[in-house]
Amino acid sequence: MSTTTTHDFQAEVKQVLDIVIHSLYTDREIFIRELVSNAADALEKMRLTQLTENDVFGADLPLQISITTDENAGTLTIADHGIGLTRAELVENLGTIAHSGSKAFAAALKNAGKGGDASLIGQFGVGFYSAFMVADEVKVYTHSWRNDGEHLVWSSTGAGTYTIDEAPDQVRGCRIVITLKEDAKEFAQPHRVRSILGKYSNFVGFPIQLNDELVNTVEAIWLKSKDEITDEQYKAFYQFTSHAFDNPSYRLHFQADAPLVINALLFLPEQNMELYGMGQMEPNVGLYCKKVLIDPHPKKLLPDWMRFVRGVIDSEDLPLNISRESMQDSALVRKLGEVVTKRLLKFLDKEAQDDAKKYQEFYSKFSRFIKEGVATDHTNRDAIAKLLRFESSLTEKGEVVSLADYVGRMKEDQKAIYFQVAPSRNTIETGPYVEAFKSKGYEVLYLYDNIDEYVVSSLREFDGKQLQAVNSNEVDLGDIANDGDSLNEADTTSLCDWLKTSLAEGVEEVRSGKRLVNSPALAITPDGEMTPQMRQMMKAMKPDEVEAPKVILEINPRHEIVRKLSALSQSNADGAKLIAEQILDNALLSAGLLDDPQRIVARTEKIMAQLLSKA
Ligand code: ADP
Ligand code: MG
Repeated sequence: MSTTTTHDFQAEVKQVLDIVIHSLYTDREIFIRELVSNAADALEKMRLTQLTENDVFGADLPLQISITTDENAGTLTIADHGIGLTRAELVENLGTIAHSGSKAFAAALKNAGKGGDASLIGQFGVGFYSAFMVADEVKVYTHSWRNDGEHLVWSSTGAGTYTIDEAPDQVRGCRIVITLKEDAKEFAQPHRVRSILGKYSNFVGFPIQLNDELVNTVEAIWLKSKDEITDEQYKAFYQFTSHAFDNPSYRLHFQADAPLVINALLFLPEQNMELYGMGQMEPNVGLYCKKVLIDPHPKKLLPDWMRFVRGVIDSEDLPLNISRESMQDSALVRKLGEVVTKRLLKFLDKEAQDDAKKYQEFYSKFSRFIKEGVATDHTNRDAIAKLLRFESSLTEKGEVVSLADYVGRMKEDQKAIYFQVAPSRNTIETGPYVEAFKSKGYEVLYLYDNIDEYVVSSLREFDGKQLQAVNSNEVDLGDIANDGDSLNEADTTSLCDWLKTSLAEGVEEVRSGKRLVNSPALAITPDGEMTPQMRQMMKAMKPDEVEAPKVILEINPRHEIVRKLSALSQSNADGAKLIAEQILDNALLSAGLLDDPQRIVARTEKIMAQLLSKA
């Protein structure tokens, strides 16, 4: 009686297999790296399990990886004594993909061009399937570390289904047997496999045997001194330990003795995986104590926003028997995280100053994390804020300035750091707000990102200078020298009163402003009101609960339209009202506060009709 069961791969897996089998021709050798890395993961899990479990199947088996080649049979076998898999785990882990990995992988491959870029695969949590680049068939013989597990073999040719069958006499762990395709027989040659292993096997934390010969010396490169390590080795270490395919954009390797003994090797990637739609990354700086891995993804070591940082932190001050649970609340771990965070922030600030162009390249992909840091990491807020970059009224399009540079060139009488949040440079420069700042020679930062508003409102100040939105009621620009004709004070006051009555529904206050140069009016958010950007976010979430805004309308008594409106309000109140409403809507539009642009159409038609009737 056959015990074989046949299963369909989940649709996402089929998609990945289709890509792997039909469109990847280059870098096929990486499948070895992926399978070795899975074996190492399984061994690492076994090591941790053994710390707490006494009842382990095959408890005496060594934690190592054995690779064997058979040129005659055309097979390559990769075996480990890791945790192995139960029947349910085979289905769960080798038949389905839980997260968005497959979609993200497909999208990334599209960018990689013809022939694909197989090295991408590990990054997307689908590394196992890379075996099908070279395999006619893959068999996974396994027994779980659990005593009640079964002796099993999983097998598939990659064509839509896999089978699971009983396979007596398995030892604990996994033995993956790959029957190589005709054009992939090279991977059954010992020297070929050896040279592939040579690139990274020393970073694997367990012994690797190739045809019964030890091929690696387990090496903790973070404990070595910098001049003993080549760039190539750093890169290989980075790529292997963080499953990465890119080059690190920055690298920080340091030793410290006080207040804690620390050996740290940190990398900042080149590609932001969250931009590939992979969802939120896990923390990726492993915590070690004297070369022994305590937690590969420690949650409370570095601040959350630093989850894009990869690498290793090793401290001999940690108790070796610290468990993952207790490390989360350990004061020592917290201290360790703080020291490393500060060091990294200082390092980045210096790098950014030394090579602004390189930093901007990095920033363009990772600014989200830095902004998240400013908004959430109170302890390090000021240091993180140094890493922010924005365009401004004094930069060219595409060039950026830091807050420190901004403060360094503030005018002597300038009271605050000014910014405007808007979708584009053009919106800001054609709008009414910046003109007054420009005429005073004050720089205005241009914030284009939705979350910028939130970032600056969390930051509040930098280097003792308040951050102020150009459209906030708090802005005080003092006197602006204005030439030319102006309404006198009495007329201005009565025009303001008239406007307040005529526009009662849309304005809280109408006043004459000094800060306008070329525009007739602008809208200011009253104190305590939501800013336009917050209002838009609220509206997106709860459209019915956000009322039409009431603004402070600041008019420019020197502007021709305003001067003539004053006269018209006496002679033709109806016509003047139309124009007043239009002035308000124009101001709301510039402020990003106009909810109903349609009403402008009807009104301008009325205005046109009146004009034409006089023609
Ligand atoms: P990832 O390693 O990123 O999780 P993979 O596609 O490489 O993705 O592997 C899928 C899953 O299969 C692993 O998470 C693990 O649960 C399981 N697996 C793969 N190889 C082994 C192995 N040698 N021993 C135990 N489990 C394994
Ligand atoms: Mg893997």
